Amino acid sequence: MRRKVAILGATGSVGKSTLDLIGRSPERFEVCALTAAVNVEALADAARKTGARLAVISDPSLLPQLESRLAGTHTRAAAGPDALAEAAAGEADWVMAAIVGCAGLEPVMAAVEAGRTVALANKEALVTAGALMIDAAKRTGATILPVDSEHNAIFQCLGANRLDQVSRLILTASGGPFRGFSLDGMRAVTPEQAVAHPNWSMGAKISVDSATMMNKGLELIEAHHLFGLPSDRIDILVHAESVIHSMVEFIDGSVLAQLGSADMRIPIAHTLAYPERMETPAVKLDLAKLGTLSFEAPDSTRFPALALARHALEQGGSAAIVLNAANEVAVASFLARRIGFSDITQLVGEALERNRAAAPQAIADVMEIDRVTRIMADDLVAKVAA
Ligand code: NDP
Repeated sequence: MRRKVAILGATGSVGKSTLDLIGRSPERFEVCALTAAVNVEALADAARKTGARLAVISDPSLLPQLESRLAGTHTRAAAGPDALAEAAAGEADWVMAAIVGCAGLEPVMAAVEAGRTVALANKEALVTAGALMIDAAKRTGATILPVDSEHNAIFQCLGANRLDQVSRLILTASGGPFRGFSLDGMRAVTPEQAVAHPNWSMGAKISVDSATMMNKGLELIEAHHLFGLPSDRIDILVHAESVIHSMVEFIDGSVLAQLGSADMRIPIAHTLAYPERMETPAVKLDLAKLGTLSFEAPDSTRFPALALARHALEQGGSAAIVLNAANEVAVASFLARRIGFSDITQLVGEALERNRAAAPQAIADVMEIDRVTRIMADDLVAKVAA
């Protein structure tokens, strides 16, 4: 029996890597649904190649274009939030959540509410609604498999061990393109420099997050929700080579690590085939050629995003939603050259200080706090940009 899959965010970096793996094993996978925000051409192309039954474009004004590109195929074209939820909770039993940002939260929740297996790349969804999502998964029997390479590594290292046998999780971080930069040097960096990650090829938003190290901050919150450990049992370790993707330290002093080349197709394949394994075209590690691996403590002065995220996690309530929304606005503003690189974390810190929102009780509350924070963050951007 072929596994029925849906890919939310099929035209992005993670989405394309997922399609690449599926294209290599068509006998194992059947594509039910694919989605994109605005990239009609790439969505229609992927739907034609895979024979997907449903293709969803978020922007309804682009539906006529999608329909015309899919004319003569068996793919149904649809648009808007309801269609996105249908793609997530329809006939697929395995759903890749690879939309970027909090925009992916509602479709991810639709898949979780429908009890699907969710391969979760969209970390912002878990950061903003972690407790609600984990509770919903327990209630519906949905399985959440981590795609983020660090969390996938931890998931593999944990295996069948119980949480009370774990002393801490060690999230590794490459340190991004500005690992060796001074604070002054970082003030002048351009979007082009920030998106040029030394080890990974990724979408623009997560690349900037890696450069500020907010990505590791979001991953800290993500790890807390996925694995149920408190902030003081999740450490961050800079490991520039990105060979060890993360580690688990057990109470007896054993440390297990997962290693592999920096290719997202490895963790994606782990979730696609789970609980089996499948072949990938990723380059196999040659440790003798690598010779040495390096480790260092993160520098929280040059990378204040780490402390901001840890603070938001420890504060709880609405803080992580505000951290994420302000960061999304700030990163988009940096990419649009409206603010400087160092303004990103400055702005997130200010948004957190101004936050008075209560803890969310439902996904609608999360979306409302996200909306209000974006307005506040837009104001902060306008002041910086003036
Ligand atoms: P990309 O920017 O490359 O792709 C994003 C995808 O989401 C595209 O298909 C895009 O469609 C779609 N999209 C964007 N905005 C919206 C929206 N408002 N509504 C619906 N769909 C939308 O992102 P990545 O693939 O790099 O990252 C995806 C997620 O995975 C992020 O949360 C990221 O943090 C996480 N992740 C990514 C990794 C990577 O290697 N790239 C590694 C680990 C985690 P369109 O093309 O039409 O704009």
